[in-house]
Amino acid sequence: MVADLSYTEEYIDEVRAHTALHVIKGAVVRVLGEDAMWTASTYVSGKHGRLTVKFNRKPTPEEIKAIEELANKKIEEDLPVEVKVMPRKEAEKTYGNVIYDLYPVPQEVRILYITIIYDKDGSIWNINACNKRHTKSTKYIGRIKLGKIRFRASKQLPEIPFDIEP
Ligand SMILES: [Zn+2]
Repeated sequence: MVADLSYTEEYIDEVRAHTALHVIKGAVVRVLGEDAMWTASTYVSGKHGRLTVKFNRKPTPEEIKAIEELANKKIEEDLPVEVKVMPRKEAEKTYGNVIYDLYPVPQEVRILYITIIYDKDGSIWNINACNKRHTKSTKYIGRIKLGKIRFRASKQLPEIPFDIEP
């Protein structure tokens, strides 16, 4: 039973940190603009994660602070996280290519898990074809703290590390 509990706690951390990725993505687009909408890669382990987006410059410290504040505001607002299971064609027709990241969903996948975080006014804060587990609303994430940004001009891929607390 003790082993089960520790496994569960770690798993919940990863679900929270993974859900944080979606909230941060929404904040990145609001602060840096549509040019930063494409996710190149994501990484989560325990309470730590990293979001890598396609963008042509290193975000300024002010922008990073704004992203962190906006993401935490959306956690405080406790936005609902909804998953819609949809035929791929229907999802593409309804939402367009914003559901995708830079890395492709294999062609043979016909059913998509469309994960949507709705903003306070009912508009979409973030949408992504993602079949991982998420918290049912954003308050369960806790607090997001962004780390030091890595950026190599040759790659045009700023890496945004973060931790969730507590
Ligand atoms: Zn997800």
